[in-house]
Amino acid sequence: MSENLNLFTSTQEVVKEAVKKLGYNEAMYDLLKEPMRLHEVRIPVKMDDGKVQVFTGYRAQHSDAVGPTKGGIRFQPNLTRDDVKALAMWMTLKAGVVDLPYGGAKGAVICDPRDMSKGELERLSRGYVRALSDVMGPEKDIPAPDIFTNAQVMAWMMDEFSMIREQNQPNFITGKPIVLGGSEAREQATAVGVTTIIKEAAKRKGIEMNGARVIIQGFGNAGSFLAKFLYEAGAKVVGISDAHGALYDAEGLDIEYLLDRRDSFGTVTTLFDETITNEELLELDCDILVPAASSNQITYENADAIKAKIIVEAANGPTTAEATRVLTERDVLIIPDVLASTGGITVSYFEWIQNNTGYYWSEEEVMEKMTEKLVAAFHDVYDAAEMRQIDMRLAAYMVGIQKTAEASRLRGWV
Ligand code: NAD
Repeated sequence: MSENLNLFTSTQEVVKEAVKKLGYNEAMYDLLKEPMRLHEVRIPVKMDDGKVQVFTGYRAQHSDAVGPTKGGIRFQPNLTRDDVKALAMWMTLKAGVVDLPYGGAKGAVICDPRDMSKGELERLSRGYVRALSDVMGPEKDIPAPDIFTNAQVMAWMMDEFSMIREQNQPNFITGKPIVLGGSEAREQATAVGVTTIIKEAAKRKGIEMNGARVIIQGFGNAGSFLAKFLYEAGAKVVGISDAHGALYDAEGLDIEYLLDRRDSFGTVTTLFDETITNEELLELDCDILVPAASSNQITYENADAIKAKIIVEAANGPTTAEATRVLTERDVLIIPDVLASTGGITVSYFEWIQNNTGYYWSEEEVMEKMTEKLVAAFHDVYDAAEMRQIDMRLAAYMVGIQKTAEASRLRGWV
């Protein structure tokens, strides 16, 4: 069968159903099905060889009905305008799920940072901010790191914005280094958040974390930190993978060794002679399966063969709508991406509050506040799914879009 593998249109389909189930009219869906604004800019950058290269940049702002928009900036070679639009929409849903006073946004520059020098990256980062400084800002649209951007890129961007505004503006951007106003715990936030959500899901499914068998697809930033935290929580990580292959041991893998040996791109399986494929890994026996690599990994084709009792989407869009239907019918609990990976935006929100007030919190304080928000979000979505007899994805979309829809209605937009 042919499935919809387009992230933008498949996201729109779920948003449409959520808006309808919440009782809003067609005009509300018309407003929310696309970002309110999509900026496209050309960024000239002087390269190290003296020549000028012109890059294309995007900033999609989905909705500012609730408050300023918020979302990361990626530097990525193969990305379409539709991808940026879908990602901005997801940020609205994530902010809504954890109840933050934001709408969603996403930015991107089409480039391959792995082929660029540090100086070129700095000039590109500053160029992006110059091109978009009038449409972004602490009360308008607040960026953060994403794929192939990091705290250093955030520091350059914050500095450029501060120079344009002629005053220090740490609240312009989150994910900064600590000395420039970054928050404690921002770096591990996503993985700690996913771990928190997994613990709550396991409780609801009657699975003991101690000894729970976990498979994680992807061993990059998200997957590797996650393996560490789940291992520390007593789980038995029986399988992991990267883009080159997968490792499986029913007795549990030596996570400390694998963490020590992985390279900065999240590759580790190339060190082993006996590997299996990613496709085989997904179908092996486990309690909890965490896709933490890329989209469209669990489809109608392999959904029937999945043995996990819980699937937690640490990656964006790893399970198709058809696979969600098949697995939900089999009573597999799928924790959707817009709920599972909200740790990052939550701590980004805390960073912005700390910047706005000038009062900085300890790591324990940040962790405690984040856990509180994520546990509440998990139960809000779980209870909505139970009450309405719908899957967790639709429930998360309903919880996630409700505030933005209601704010749009009250403002008189629809
Ligand atoms: P990363 O680039 O650090 O790592 C990606 C990992 O996945 C690597 O181990 C790579 O080898 C592996 N991989 C790539 N393609 C694969 C494939 N087809 N099959 C199996 N493995 C494959 O990326 P990351 O930051 O860990 O992000 C992974 C996913 O999690 C993405 O979907 C991302 O959007 C999502 N995510 C990440 C964060 C974060 O804070 N890092 C936050 C939210 C969501």
